[in-house]
Amino acid sequence: MEKIDIKSLDYGELQAYFKELGEKSFRAGQVYQWMHEKLADGIGEMTNLSKSLRETLNETCTYTLLEPVNILTSGIDGTQKYLFRLADGNVVESVLMKYRHGNSVCISTQVGCRMGCRFCASTIGGLTRCLTVSEMLEEVYRIQKLSGERVSNLVLMGTGEPLDNYDNVVKFIRMLSDGHGLNISQRNITLSTCGLVPRIRELAEENLQITLALSLHASSQEKRKELMPIAYKYGLEEVLDACRFYFDKTGRRLTFEYSLVGGVNDTDEDAAELVKLIGGMNCHVNLIPVNPIEEREYVQSEKKVIADFKNKLEKCGINVTIRREMGRDIQGACGQLRKSYMEQKESEAEE
Ligand code: SAH
Repeated sequence: MEKIDIKSLDYGELQAYFKELGEKSFRAGQVYQWMHEKLADGIGEMTNLSKSLRETLNETCTYTLLEPVNILTSGIDGTQKYLFRLADGNVVESVLMKYRHGNSVCISTQVGCRMGCRFCASTIGGLTRCLTVSEMLEEVYRIQKLSGERVSNLVLMGTGEPLDNYDNVVKFIRMLSDGHGLNISQRNITLSTCGLVPRIRELAEENLQITLALSLHASSQEKRKELMPIAYKYGLEEVLDACRFYFDKTGRRLTFEYSLVGGVNDTDEDAAELVKLIGGMNCHVNLIPVNPIEEREYVQSEKKVIADFKNKLEKCGINVTIRREMGRDIQGACGQLRKSYMEQKESEAEE
């Protein structure tokens, strides 16, 4: 019989499972608290359960834990990058960023990615698999335990396309923001997507209070197609319509991410087009100086170009921030730590 991934069960499912085992429902409450509030490292730690119940759970369930293989700490801003090994040997990376307003964790939602964005390191090896609910929870739990810092904010901006792992991601968000768990406010959670239109519309109907961030990266359909293959499937207007729908349904202000690539999408004309495209929407633009990766020829826009681009948007009443380059000294860009680990493993295997 296949074992149950007990940490992926939500409160209701755990209650149902305990009923099946013939256990009282308050026991399910205790176990849930051990897993999701006290962040226990195993069933053995759950000392208020009988020995026989602990044995039963060990026999019928798996208990997901992530093993840190590498932790890098930035000497510049204290940002920490974690490389975690999953039970099947795959590795994922997560980041802890410390801000004045609290600690933010950036998690991966898939091992690899199949979206193929041209400037992104996470997609180069393609998609290996989606992460389970318990693995995503563990990214947060493990960081909280290892760092001793309380996590108050979450961004789904690590490796993977969150909406390509839709059911697990939505369940993960519900469990993380549940009063029975870490109780992280949904308003402090941001989900970033390259723009899977049907999924954005579905997400809008989930009754969640999370922020949607769209990876826009270009202000014309033609340029967007050059940078993001997903644009062939869902056109710019269609994606923006889905974003408007998200705003109408949730009332949550939208974020547009725009990675500035030198000479590609950073001209005056690009800024003017962008204003036409999103001016008047209730939104915020996050400009990200592109993080060059080895495999591509892309370079960062010059500081002045970035500042001019920002000014142009601001003059037209658009709310803009330039993303601070956190952890620049520790392979800050998406997927770079995991990638260099895999390359090292491969070269070891060849030797
Ligand atoms: N799949 C999601 C999450 C990806 S990572 C999405 O596409 O939104 C979060 C953001 O970082 C996205 O906007 C992504 O396009 C951007 N990004 C990825 N690699 C980058 C790089 N090398 N430089 C700048 N931004 C990058």
